Amino acid sequence: MCIDITGHCNAQCHWCPNPIERKMDLPRGFMEPAFFENVLDRLEAIKAISPEKTYIALFNWGEPALHKKFPEFTKILTNRNYNWTFSTNASVLPALDGCNFSRLHYVIFSMPGFSQESYERIHGFDFKKVMNNIDEYRKEIKRHSSLTEIRISYHVYQFNLDELPEAQQWAKQNGFFFNPHFAQLGVFDWGIDFLKGTLSPDILAKASEELFLFYVKPLAATCPENYECPQFSILTLDEFGNVLTCCGVPRSHPQYKLGSVFEMSLDDIESKRKQQEVCIDCLKTGAAYCGHNVQFFKQAFPKEKSITTIVKKLRKSRFVKNIFS
Ligand code: SF4
Ligand code: SF4
Repeated sequence: MCIDITGHCNAQCHWCPNPIERKMDLPRGFMEPAFFENVLDRLEAIKAISPEKTYIALFNWGEPALHKKFPEFTKILTNRNYNWTFSTNASVLPALDGCNFSRLHYVIFSMPGFSQESYERIHGFDFKKVMNNIDEYRKEIKRHSSLTEIRISYHVYQFNLDELPEAQQWAKQNGFFFNPHFAQLGVFDWGIDFLKGTLSPDILAKASEELFLFYVKPLAATCPENYECPQFSILTLDEFGNVLTCCGVPRSHPQYKLGSVFEMSLDDIESKRKQQEVCIDCLKTGAAYCGHNVQFFKQAFPKEKSITTIVKKLRKSRFVKNIFS
């Protein structure tokens, strides 16, 4: 269950729909904690969630730490016995001393590299400040719960390959779970266009300079015939209580939402979701399968276990593979 408590994000990642959609006149806001309680009440009433079987991801395409009332959400989830998680770019800190992390299952720090240069290129943040913030989070989270896993979601771009070993070392020293994966064409239509061979030449040229794409079409080709998109068993809501088609269809898309959670039963949601036309191309091209199966170790060199060796091999092969993919 994903609930975006805000649709705002302060990063500049150009492979993400959020910065592109900021230029459009789309509704975007901050959810009130009292409204969050109503949303949880409603989801429980329609038997979509329960503390026994659900854990709640407090994010989708927004940055939850931008919400001034973030600590209140952590307390609501704790009081209602929900295990939960959130992902953050760690550019800003919420009032950590007001948070309750005792039921925090894991936290994800998403990183576009391990240097100021990489941060300038994607997020647009001060790398040192981010590192300090992650350390502040670590101290406060561990104070509440020694079992909470801290995950580093390292987005692998062509330009940050050489920073991987150092990032891995830092994660190991801090006891973080290090999870590198290839950065993706995160704008929904671009991913589908790439697989169809219709992506605009400008975007393709930039993608060929920054991303690794050599594995995408072979991966899509391995999509099982009756593949069921995992999103069909996950609910995603935005900050207004809209039930979304899924976490991937962006705000500007005509089929972004299914309707208000307050006006739909669980059956309504499930049947409407399975009729969304947007899913047809997404499943047919293999985009849904790729989106849920992007990794680094497995796709770069399946038999290789050492990051340093993979970096060396990718360095040698990446240009050739990208030009001809
Ligand atoms: S990828 Fe994440 S951090 Fe970057 S702009 Fe999008 S939502 Fe923000
Ligand atoms: S098939 Fe694609 S659009 Fe449909 S729910 Fe899955 S990821 Fe979303």
